[in-house]
Amino acid sequence: MNKLHKICVFCGSSDGNDDKITTAAVALGNAFVARDITLVYGAAKIGVMGAIAQKMLDLHGKVIGIIPQFLKVKEVVHKGLTELHTTENMHERKLMMQEVSDGFITLPGGFGTLEELFEVLTWQQLGLHKKPIGLLNINGYFDPLVAQLQKMVDTQLLNKENQSLLIVDTEIESLLNKMKAFEAPSVPKWLSEKRT
Ligand code: AMP
Repeated sequence: MNKLHKICVFCGSSDGNDDKITTAAVALGNAFVARDITLVYGAAKIGVMGAIAQKMLDLHGKVIGIIPQFLKVKEVVHKGLTELHTTENMHERKLMMQEVSDGFITLPGGFGTLEELFEVLTWQQLGLHKKPIGLLNINGYFDPLVAQLQKMVDTQLLNKENQSLLIVDTEIESLLNKMKAFEAPSVPKWLSEKRT
């Protein structure tokens, strides 16, 4: 079983127009506090990011924010976090998020969110880490993304084993349970003998 003391959440710096998304972000914050899980995130006070962080702080949960210097104003950094780390640039931010976290959960968001998700997925595909990566599919937001991944498998541009590196669920409890039980494949498929 994987320990999940610190989970990094990737999600939108905007609010969007679907209230179910913010409601689910708040519910995830609640679930983290109930399980004594520390939130690691991008340190913003705004959007879906701000919603989960504020809920956890209201409940006296632990929140670690990591933000590059140049984004501190643009993304309105949260001043009340348990810990705030300022990095030189985006790469350093994402490396630190990856290093300090035991797993990752992606909630609805935009380009930044997807970029962060696919970076941790590709790092796992390359065998650079073995931490569970969850996708919380709130109100069908990620249905087209899940369909796209299936299209990539059907077209044989994504290995089926690598597709299964992404743990998708619509419920928080079962997502966390699957993440705890996740075992990364020991040898990344793309390193099979015929490719070396
Ligand atoms: P978004 O999903 O576009 O609202 O962005 C959510 C978070 O992703 C923000 O904290 C962004 O700073 C962050 N992010 C990470 N990598 C990138 C990137 N390459 N481009 C844009 N935003 C990024």
